[in-house]
Amino acid sequence: MKIIESAIKLMKKGYVCDYCLGRAFGNILTGKSNKERGQVIRQVLAMAFDSGENLDVDLSNFHGINFRNRKVEVEKKSCYFCNDIFEKIEEIAEKIIEKLKEYEFNTFLIGTKLSSEILQKEEEMIEEIGAEFYESLKSTLNREIGKIIEKKTNKRADRDNPDITVLVDLEKNTISLQVKSLFVYGEYQKLSRNIPQATWYCPSCRGKGCEKCKGTGLLYSTSVQMIIEKPLLRATKGKKSKIHAEGREDIDVRCLAWRPFVIEIIKPKIRSINLKEVEKKINKSRKVKVRNLKIVKDGRQLIRKIKTERSEKTYRAIVTFERVIDKKKLEELKQLNGAIIFQKTPTRVLARRSDKERKRKVIRFSYKLINKKTLELIIRASAGLYVKELITGDNGRTKPNVSEILNNTPKKILLDVIKIHRGE
Ligand SMILES: [Zn+2]
Ligand SMILES: [Zn+2]
Repeated sequence: MKIIESAIKLMKKGYVCDYCLGRAFGNILTGKSNKERGQVIRQVLAMAFDSGENLDVDLSNFHGINFRNRKVEVEKKSCYFCNDIFEKIEEIAEKIIEKLKEYEFNTFLIGTKLSSEILQKEEEMIEEIGAEFYESLKSTLNREIGKIIEKKTNKRADRDNPDITVLVDLEKNTISLQVKSLFVYGEYQKLSRNIPQATWYCPSCRGKGCEKCKGTGLLYSTSVQMIIEKPLLRATKGKKSKIHAEGREDIDVRCLAWRPFVIEIIKPKIRSINLKEVEKKINKSRKVKVRNLKIVKDGRQLIRKIKTERSEKTYRAIVTFERVIDKKKLEELKQLNGAIIFQKTPTRVLARRSDKERKRKVIRFSYKLINKKTLELIIRASAGLYVKELITGDNGRTKPNVSEILNNTPKKILLDVIKIHRGE
């Protein structure tokens, strides 16, 4: 029998524990644990041995078995293939449970890293008996430790999307946790002209705090992100956050439209939070308002979707010019309605972005004279059009442009995003 021959080959190497003996044939029969498989094979071989057959195995494999016909004293050894790791899995599971206590979670996954010595022995096992029915030590351990934790915590092991992944490093003898971020979707309005969307750290100290930033670590004292994350970090006991939004407005631009975003809370200890309360707290701010907050399960996928949405936007710009506006020229602005705009990367972002020319569209353009020097413009534009440059011309890098048409220089631009045309 091939199975018996294979078992003998393994047992010749040294003592093989029930788990390892069983997992060598782990893909034969269902409803049996590897331990049970190992016990059965060992008993069959012990019977053959007791009946007088001579087996070419390390006799330590029969330690603890009572023979009727043979008189043998056999010593106890540790498992050649796993170093008796299975005797320690209860203890390992206990340590993991202790670490997990800090976190609220529903699902988990165990991952083990084996020492190079043990990995070498895995290779040997496959060389001896092939990999046809074999189950690796790693997956056996992951499952067995997982089973203990499931039983003791009432939480579920989940391969696909675990709240916490536990990494057991058997070489370094460490246990570490990878905690899945908590993703909260929402839509925000930015009502201030001097805060960035994401938190900007001080470039001199990168957030540590220095003289330049007066110890705050920040370039701007607050941000949309900081205002939104504050009650969320408190409620989840999370470490920090990342904000992912569909585009962003410049620091001095207000966003009166509701801009979709996902805020990612890193290493949350609490996952079930009262978002109505969070929303109330955020909305006490005069600078930022939010609505429609909800926890999303597949955050990464939603972030990808939000980031690739290329919605048209409508802006309102109040533009004050240096000189009195020439009323005859005003009519000529109509050419911008439906115009294709050729736009080289704006001078102000050249340091961060590559210099190239893009083609964007002004879908709708209207204007209203507010006073002799001031115009109100309503501009609906395709995604990615730089509106300030459409107005200033950016030294001819954007064409056509308002400044050139009016032959006048804008002195001040107050810009608001007033609508994000999602799905239109
Ligand atoms: Zn073993
Ligand atoms: Zn600093």
